[in-house]
Amino acid sequence: MILKIFQAGAPVLRQKARPLTTEEIKSAAMRQLIEFMRETMRDARGVGLAAPQVGEPVQLAVIEDTPERHQTLPREILAERGRTTVPFHVIINPVIKIEESASATFFEGCLSVNGYAALVPRATAVRVECLDERGETRVIKARGWYARILQHETDHLHGTLYVDKMHSRSFVNRDTYMNEWHTRPAEDAERAFLTEID
Ligand code: ZN
Repeated sequence: MILKIFQAGAPVLRQKARPLTTEEIKSAAMRQLIEFMRETMRDARGVGLAAPQVGEPVQLAVIEDTPERHQTLPREILAERGRTTVPFHVIINPVIKIEESASATFFEGCLSVNGYAALVPRATAVRVECLDERGETRVIKARGWYARILQHETDHLHGTLYVDKMHSRSFVNRDTYMNEWHTRPAEDAERAFLTEID
C-alpha cells in the first residue's frame, strides 16, 4: 500500500519521534508499517523515508539506494557524491555520531519538501547505533552519500528538515535543479550560489 507522504507544514514533521520498544518492533503492525514504507519510498523514488513522513511519530526509517536510482547520473558525479549501492534496511531508535569534522556540500531534496532542492553541508562520515527490524543492535559506519542519507533520516526523527540546515540562497525548484544542476559538479553550484555578493 502506498502511504500518504506528509508535506512541510504538517506538525508531525516537526515533533521529536518516540523510541520503539522491542515488543512494538516485533509486532505485526510494525512489520506492516515497514512494508508499506518500503513500497511508498520505492514509488516516490526516494533513498530514505522516515516514519514521521507518513504520519507516524516513531523512531523508524527505511533506507535503500539502488543502481536504478543512479542511472541518470554520470559516473564521475556518482563518484564525487560518494554514491554507492545501499541495500534495503531499517533503522530504529538510531543514535548518530559524527565521525569526521569534515563536511561535504551537495544538493539534497526531501519527499516532504516536494519539488525543491538546496545545497546542504553534511558530515562526510558517521557512525549510527540502532536496532534493526528484528530488534537486534546494529552499528553502521557510513561515508559519502550513505552518511548523508543517515543524517537526513535521523534528523527527521528529531523534527528537523533539511531546510533548517541548507544554504538558503541555493534553494531551487525541481525543474531548475534537474535542468541545471543534477549532473553538474558541486563546486559549480557552490560558486553560483554561495559566493558572497557585495
Ligand atoms: Zn526527508
